[in-house]
Amino acid sequence: MSGKTVFVTGASGYIALHILDVLLSKGYNIIGTVRSQSKAESISNNFSKKYPEADIKFEIVPDISSDNAFDNSLRNNPSIDYVLHTASPFAYGIDKPLEEAYLIPATHGTRNVLEAIQKYAPQVTRVVITSSFAAIVNRGKAGDPTFIHTEETWNPITWEDVTTEQSGYTASKKLAEQLARNFVIEKKPNFTITTVNPPFVLGPQLFDDSFKNSNLNTSAELVRKLLDLPADYSGNDDLPSLVVDVRDVALLHVLPLENEKLLGSRLFPVSSFSSGQFLLNKVHEAFPELDGQIGKGTPEGAEEIAKTKGLAYDTSKTLEITGIKEWIPLEKTIRDSVQQILDHRKREE
Ligand code: NAP
Repeated sequence: MSGKTVFVTGASGYIALHILDVLLSKGYNIIGTVRSQSKAESISNNFSKKYPEADIKFEIVPDISSDNAFDNSLRNNPSIDYVLHTASPFAYGIDKPLEEAYLIPATHGTRNVLEAIQKYAPQVTRVVITSSFAAIVNRGKAGDPTFIHTEETWNPITWEDVTTEQSGYTASKKLAEQLARNFVIEKKPNFTITTVNPPFVLGPQLFDDSFKNSNLNTSAELVRKLLDLPADYSGNDDLPSLVVDVRDVALLHVLPLENEKLLGSRLFPVSSFSSGQFLLNKVHEAFPELDGQIGKGTPEGAEEIAKTKGLAYDTSKTLEITGIKEWIPLEKTIRDSVQQILDHRKREE
């Protein structure tokens, strides 16, 4: 068992809770940051049932963008060996200018955590950051089978290109990753930075009480919304995307703590091309009993469209260096997340 201590920012998040689960299952001690004491208590309660011996505590960091946001946490906890920075806003409908809603928290949050480690935690040697496929994707190449997105690809977007919430989020993630990679080159800290660059992350919630929130996190909410489509829905959401299972994403955050080969890399996981309609088809395939209860949209041709109008990708380098044989298949991701939602709804009836 590890015995090492990992500092995890944004510990209340959908992906972060799965990361904590992997860490605890491997015997790591955890110091997580959350925005409120009540979040700390609810996470502690849930994990203490699953891991009665767990060593997990919390620091309250109300806003990652505030200057020196992480200084006290890193100064006061000299036991920290590794840092995983996952916190960043991934929600739409934030009632603020785009810069304040996305760019500032993503970039200042990243800068703040890296500076705090350099100033107060020189013993930290490995940092893993949750970046995104947003930092990789070249949307202009959708439908071009010769343009293959890999660990080497960078999104050409600049902040000047931003016009919508989606492009604001996308640019914020690219600029935050760039800032982190430049930090290592310019400041030569004691640590390496590895990033995890997932596309749309789907799969079950770690704990059922996430359903108490009026919405799930942005990506998982998409699957829940499919289950609310009216029976006569015949629309067709063909916007192409890529997807991956949250459990693979969580594992990728922990592997760099244990495998030197991964240090400094960009880890890029994808289980499938996708689109809203493609996912809806998968829901109906896995749960034929929902036939007649939720709409089918326009199922014909969805797979072909998602494949041919979508984004070509190749994750073989990440598979090779991590030793992962294959990504969790989309069919399992859908089965597990839909089943969890249906079970929860049944209990609530
Ligand atoms: P999530 O559940 O909304 O988690 C976001 C986390 O960041 C939460 O813990 C949130 O705290 C925290 N946070 C956001 N803004 C903050 C601020 N200003 N100050 C302090 N904490 C703040 O979303 P998620 O999907 O797990 O996302 C986690 C990371 O994965 C993000 O970096 C996101 O960009 C990245 N990512 C997600 C996907 C995806 O499809 N889900 C894909 C690629 C990359 P609260 O719980 O208090 O709000």
